[in-house]
Amino acid sequence: MYDRNYLAHRLRHASIGREDQPFLIHPDSGAEVSHGAFFANAERMASALSRMGVKPGDRVAVQAPKTQAMLELYIGCVLAGAVFLPLNTGYTPAEVRYFLGDATPALLVCDPTKLDDLTPLAAECGVRHIRTIASDGSGSLVEARDGEAPGFTPMPRDPLDLAAILYTSGTTGRSKGAMLTHRALASNSETLRDTWRFTPDDVLIHALPIFHTHGLFVATNITLMAGGACIFLPGFDAEQIMAAMPKATALMGVPTFYTRLLQQEGLSEASKTMRLFVSGSAPLLAETHDRWREVTGHAILERYGMTETNMNTSNPYDGDRRAGTVGFPLPGVELKVCDPETGEDLPQGEIGMLEVRGDNVFAGYWQMPEKTAEELREDGFFITGDLGRIDDDGYVHIVGRGKDLIISGGFNVYPKEVETLIDDLPGVLESAVIGVPHPDFGEGVVAVVVPVAGADLTETGILTAIASDLAKFKQPKRVLFLPELPRNTMGKVQKNALRQDYAEIFA
Ligand code: AMP
Repeated sequence: MYDRNYLAHRLRHASIGREDQPFLIHPDSGAEVSHGAFFANAERMASALSRMGVKPGDRVAVQAPKTQAMLELYIGCVLAGAVFLPLNTGYTPAEVRYFLGDATPALLVCDPTKLDDLTPLAAECGVRHIRTIASDGSGSLVEARDGEAPGFTPMPRDPLDLAAILYTSGTTGRSKGAMLTHRALASNSETLRDTWRFTPDDVLIHALPIFHTHGLFVATNITLMAGGACIFLPGFDAEQIMAAMPKATALMGVPTFYTRLLQQEGLSEASKTMRLFVSGSAPLLAETHDRWREVTGHAILERYGMTETNMNTSNPYDGDRRAGTVGFPLPGVELKVCDPETGEDLPQGEIGMLEVRGDNVFAGYWQMPEKTAEELREDGFFITGDLGRIDDDGYVHIVGRGKDLIISGGFNVYPKEVETLIDDLPGVLESAVIGVPHPDFGEGVVAVVVPVAGADLTETGILTAIASDLAKFKQPKRVLFLPELPRNTMGKVQKNALRQDYAEIFA
């Protein structure tokens, strides 16, 4: 019956006949949940949704702790034909209200601690039902699941039906709901499973949030589609990951996972049985890549993707995983570098706007036809907003977000170029280069530098050290020091926050 539902069929396929094999391993209790038991619960979730009147195409918004029940709800939505809409657990009720008003879900699932705040907002937005999932796995939705008889006949869904809406982080203007089809999710996860060689023998350390594409689709879908298992952690905890490694084969993380794990004793020993470390969602410093290889013997495999497109590129499984690059376009993904103004293809090697096309790409922004038309071309290419280039060997390099490009005195300054030079200096842990308003130049280049513990760095020291390697217009006009850079939950440096903090520096 699963074959009536495009994505559910593909998620279930690998564990047919192997229902007893573990899917989720809870590290604290050591409890294992088999693929069969997991799908049985997801089917009862689907029954509970249907009983509430959730119909195919209805949205189900979820702001809940990372739990097995939330994953069951995700699959329950797929089975019921509903559109899963996870929300960052950090959003305040006022922020959640925007999403409820925009997406008009039939059901909101939240943490019981937020019920009092969210109930009136949900009512205002016409949300018919509100249920809970708590961090201990209890809650009214779980009770509803337990009240259902086993078994659910999946709702028929076609490749182009929606499976999920994920809102972008909205650093420029309103947050936009990226509409992801059954085919986009299925095709990308199958490609990644094959490219990264996931099999039933794999045990993935799952420490990413499941409201974001990385932890929800990349990590979870691949494990299901491989028929493998994952050690399911509530979040990043270096000690728990160290303890999990000897029982695992793979880790997917954001760069901060790796920088923090490098500070742990015994990493070399603990990582011996691992076969794969994947990094993405933010740029991995070449230094982290090199240190990781020195300590563990493994080259981290860096990949590049985004909410709207799933994953676009990956360093090779076999072959050279190059630090500072995001590898090659995945099978089925076309990637080109274009002039940001005209959209014309640029010659090989030049920096420009990355555009991608393939089954992985989203279907548009929820109820925003103008935004969709601005970013998704009629021929199917999506304008990613990332600037990059393709080197002579075909590796893709990301040089930054388009909106982070600095224009100083009419000249383009790519922050990454300046950051790379500064990061290479002794005593520098990392840096972020931003543009802020400048009375003469329009924007002035500012470098925010994080020193390694105990290093004695000065503004003049840094400026002198990079002066001979950079054209004058690219050189920072100020160098400032911070103990750490502001980052969001996915490890992305929040340049917006830095631009705000230093907006007046040249005033
Ligand atoms: P999100 O939609 O939250 O997943 O953010 C997507 C953005 O993260 C991309 O458009 C890139 O700017 C950035 N990103 C993702 N992976 C990488 C990577 N490996 N290197 C550099 N930037 C990345």
